Amino acid sequence: MPSTNRDQLVALDRQHLIHPVTNFRAHEKRGVTVLDSGKGAFLRDIDGNELLDAFSGLWCVNTGYGQESIVRAATEQMARLPYATGYFSYGSEPAIRLAAQLVELAPKSLRHVYFTQGGSDAVDAAIRYVVYYYNALGKPQKKHFISLQRGYHGSSAAGAGLTGLPVFHRNFDLPTLQQHHIPSPYPYRNPVGQDDAAIIAASVQALRDKVAELGAENVAAFFCEPIQGSGGVIVPPVGWLKAIADTCRELGILLAVDEVITGFGRTGPLFACEAEGVEPDLMTMAKGLTAGYAPMGAVMMSSAIYDAISEAAGPDIAVGHGQTYSAHPVAAAIGLEVLRLYHEGGLLANGIAVTPRFTAGLQELLAHPLVGDARNRGLVGALELVADKKSKRQFDPALRVNEAVAEAAYRNRLVFRAFNDSILGFAPALCYTEEEFDLLFMRLKRTLDEVL
Ligand code: PLP
Repeated sequence: MPSTNRDQLVALDRQHLIHPVTNFRAHEKRGVTVLDSGKGAFLRDIDGNELLDAFSGLWCVNTGYGQESIVRAATEQMARLPYATGYFSYGSEPAIRLAAQLVELAPKSLRHVYFTQGGSDAVDAAIRYVVYYYNALGKPQKKHFISLQRGYHGSSAAGAGLTGLPVFHRNFDLPTLQQHHIPSPYPYRNPVGQDDAAIIAASVQALRDKVAELGAENVAAFFCEPIQGSGGVIVPPVGWLKAIADTCRELGILLAVDEVITGFGRTGPLFACEAEGVEPDLMTMAKGLTAGYAPMGAVMMSSAIYDAISEAAGPDIAVGHGQTYSAHPVAAAIGLEVLRLYHEGGLLANGIAVTPRFTAGLQELLAHPLVGDARNRGLVGALELVADKKSKRQFDPALRVNEAVAEAAYRNRLVFRAFNDSILGFAPALCYTEEEFDLLFMRLKRTLDEVL
């Protein structure tokens, strides 16, 4: 019998809890690290170790942990009205106010909001609304979806089709979307080299070629992240998103921008689209919307999409998309307080103010023998580890470099994410101080030195 609470939890976890995107056997062998509490940028595990979180949980706790005003907003709403359905024309004040604020703050093309429980179902809803839209327009043949290799759009049955990461497709062969992936605008490993204009031109051409191959009349939409997060924090050149948006417009296909990671100050402005003046037809979001304090996501859409769907349904027929927890009032109350913290609470401004320290810390590590590339935009960044800097040769997967990095990071009390291809991802909270960055880079350097 396990002798402590900790041992009991580890044993129960091993027996019963399925973890997301995890190798079941490796996890059973390693055992869970039980996180117990958090304050600001720090987490504490059940063994009492204080860990510096350089990943905002899973790129979501943009405010940092233990923000008391968020807890108060949630508690008050829970006591007043813990649940309100959105069905049958009911609703709640926080959900209505949050939708209105998002419309005010998002690119001005986006006028309507549907709330979900997270990012995957926001992408799933976006796909469904796109299909409704083209059927409403009398263009039912427009059913092909294009996205980027290495893109991540969640793991719903349909959204995983847009995801361009092999692990989400392996052994999952249900017919779902008519999906197509074009190469990622990946500056460090781009066949056209590292020139920004050439990378943008090649990416636009790849989209044009794919649309020409399928026939524009058959293509519904292009989905992309402004920065590819889970695919390895791939930061396209400035101007890429705008060039893609213009191309979609010209080709007559919808642009759906997935801001699940990049939204809510992660790259500087509230949304990454803002920096490039892009007005997408649809936008998905989650994570920083509630800063991880409650599950919530959203899809926003243009009036053209909303009106066409509404028109086709006429006065009597329901638009058949919904969930019990859409527009959950407690999550919405949290969302309202989180938005207040980003703006009046100064978090967006702080994120922008500390970004140069983050950039400098990553760039300094380029001198480390393991680091081939360092990149970031705002407070999302990566180091790409290589076996040989000159040739950019990757490590043999059999060496299990990621595991070694993750273990060394834990020993150094630092949390970040080691992706496939030995890419280390960072997404510090917007509340980070200069001193916390000093600590992050001191612990990160030690981690890398231990792996060398
Ligand atoms: N889209 C993007 C860009 C994401 O990064 C994620 C999750 O990381 C998702 C969608 C899926 O969101 P969720 O995990 O909340 O379902």
